[in-house]
Amino acid sequence: MNVIELRDIHRTYRRGGFFGKAEWLHVLRGIDLDLRQGESLGLVGRSGSGKSTLGRIMLGLESPDSGTVRIMGRETTGMRTLPPDVRRAVQVVFQDAIGSCNPRLTAGEIIAEPLRNFDRLSGTALRQRVAELLEQVGLSPDDAGKLPGRFSGGQLQRVCIARALAPRPRVIVLDEAVSSLDMLVQARILDLLEDLRREHDTAYLFVTHDLRLVRRFCDRAFIMADGVLESFAPSNIHTEFAPAALSELSGALL
Ligand code: ADP
Ligand code: MG
Repeated sequence: MNVIELRDIHRTYRRGGFFGKAEWLHVLRGIDLDLRQGESLGLVGRSGSGKSTLGRIMLGLESPDSGTVRIMGRETTGMRTLPPDVRRAVQVVFQDAIGSCNPRLTAGEIIAEPLRNFDRLSGTALRQRVAELLEQVGLSPDDAGKLPGRFSGGQLQRVCIARALAPRPRVIVLDEAVSSLDMLVQARILDLLEDLRREHDTAYLFVTHDLRLVRRFCDRAFIMADGVLESFAPSNIHTEFAPAALSELSGALL
């Protein structure tokens, strides 16, 4: 089963126009993509190539100009708010952990929010599930009482990962969300994601510059360039990448 299906997705942004002439930036130019249950996809490409835009469209956070989006078999194109069961099925972790957390809510409250909304958990059951999620991402249950400002960047990123795991989603988009974690923490998080994939068929989209991560963790991979996706086998990163495409990528190259 495909958890997400994109057909002929186009997305254009208007740039400028206030003083100078307006230009149109045709970021996505006819994207077709299927993400299957239990599959892990890698998405690479230089900065500004449209990876995050594609991620937001896959999650129904943004509408394409044309094309169709299906999430969990339901056509969601153009919906302003997704039905609750679709919304819980697709979760995202952004690179910017600080920007994605309300600074006035404790880590426990941040993680509890989806549990209250989707599972109607409260009281002891809620506290126990929050503690369990904190432990899964390598934090302590005592961290539940801390505000975002008291965590390091990597710790707060783990709070965001715990929040994304909380509603037991079918799909998680990790938009440059794991490369900033230190190696040991990253290995632990990847093990956890692999376990979830085995047990619950969770699917992942890794948007990343880290080709080693793609090679180790992804079943299929794509490079975004000029608004289209080109597929490559994660195991053949060396041989399949055109040198020009490789040189456009920054960050860890194996
Ligand atoms: P990536 O994630 O690959 O770095 P993005 O999807 O963030 O790329 O952005 C692709 C291009 O679209 C960039 O040139 C960016 O400036 C532009 N862009 C992204 N979002 C918007 C927006 N909401 N309004 C205008 N331009 C945007
Ligand atoms: Mg991005």
